[in-house]
Amino acid sequence: MRKEITELSEKYRDIFVKCSDEIWATPEINFAEYRSHETAMNCMKELGFEISTLPDMDTAFIASAGHGSPVIGILGELDALPNLSQKADIDHPDPLVYGAPGHGCGHNLLGCGGMECAYILKKYFEEHNIEGTIKYFSCPAEEGGVGKVYMIHRGAFDDVDFCVNWHPSTSFGIVHDGKSILLQNYRFHGIASHAAGAPEMGRSALDALELFNIGIQFIREHMTKDTYIQYAITNAGGNAANIVQAYAEGQYVIRAKDNTELKKMQARVDKIAKGAAMMTETEVEEPEVVSAFSSFIDNPTLADLARKHIKECMPMQYTDEEKAYLEKFIACGSKAGSSELIDDEIHEDHKTSSDVSDVSWIVPTCMINVPTWAIGTSAHTWSATAQGKSSPAHKGMNLAAQIMANIALDMVEDPALIEQAKEELKKNLNGRVYEQECFIAKDRKPAPIY
Ligand SMILES: [Zn+2]
Repeated sequence: MRKEITELSEKYRDIFVKCSDEIWATPEINFAEYRSHETAMNCMKELGFEISTLPDMDTAFIASAGHGSPVIGILGELDALPNLSQKADIDHPDPLVYGAPGHGCGHNLLGCGGMECAYILKKYFEEHNIEGTIKYFSCPAEEGGVGKVYMIHRGAFDDVDFCVNWHPSTSFGIVHDGKSILLQNYRFHGIASHAAGAPEMGRSALDALELFNIGIQFIREHMTKDTYIQYAITNAGGNAANIVQAYAEGQYVIRAKDNTELKKMQARVDKIAKGAAMMTETEVEEPEVVSAFSSFIDNPTLADLARKHIKECMPMQYTDEEKAYLEKFIACGSKAGSSELIDDEIHEDHKTSSDVSDVSWIVPTCMINVPTWAIGTSAHTWSATAQGKSSPAHKGMNLAAQIMANIALDMVEDPALIEQAKEELKKNLNGRVYEQECFIAKDRKPAPIY
């Protein structure tokens, strides 16, 4: 860790803490991050970055500084989650606005940590007259909306040499793996009929959906161990049992080790849906792809640099006040009763399920986790929202910015590492081409998934 980077972070940290807190206070869900987008974009504009936008993506921007090559990509997100509104610092569920969104995944920190990294790199480049371009990517709709996939389709990362990224967490970590994920809606159409008067005239879409589910339960024995199928019945047709249900709908998530395996599973699941429709003399629509993430392509060069810098930051240093704060949240989380305050290990077995994985197919990409929440806190919960503007959260965000800046500088100072990282990407892709493997059509327009 470079002393000068730490000093730059300390000097400018308040700008990003303020920005993160402002975004925490305006939680917005996928593709509707308008106020957060304005806050982040204006902040970067004021700091001297050049801003560019992308077609059909109102809440995406790219903030650039510097010139020439290499081009460093820093990935950020700003979206919140539905129904996770929560008062800050309160250790029990207590929504700020009942039913409203909240920053239960810490993307206010994620985004502003990336912005801080970009800014301290900009300052460092200027001070040392370093050639290179810094690009901060403000990516919308990570939570299911796969904003980065649409950014890839628009060529946003085409000139980038490598990307760094972080995610708030309860411990330090380096991501090496992440499954391919596909979210699809299946819609069955039958014939309505009065269940007492003329049941023989009806064809039940609900029966079809139930048989589809039974088929799914039977296929589980014949899938690889790292494949999962999960589902929700999103429309059972109606509330009246004396009517043959003419419509039923379910949402299915398929997770597999990579896109190739996922494609095979998609075909098998589709076949079961068709079989269920055939059995019940109903119709099933061509399934709708709601969302899809690619598998994560590991980059050992970047991961090794991340490990080196993370080790230098461990263990996290907290004040007594911060320790008391964390203890309060440990007591209401899954590690309640534990005397452990800090998880002093670098976790390298966590699997990501993020659209950062898609970027990892295009550009050598590094994804790290940095502690911002009390151990035992789950992402996507009220507790993560509650801790999102605390002192430990800000500390983690500042540290993440420093670690990412150090990784980037190692790469910039040794161009051979950039080449090595690119070679690794090529090797790990093993001939696979993103455009052929991606489940989201290139001409598809970005759209919210909820
Ligand atoms: Zn997240």
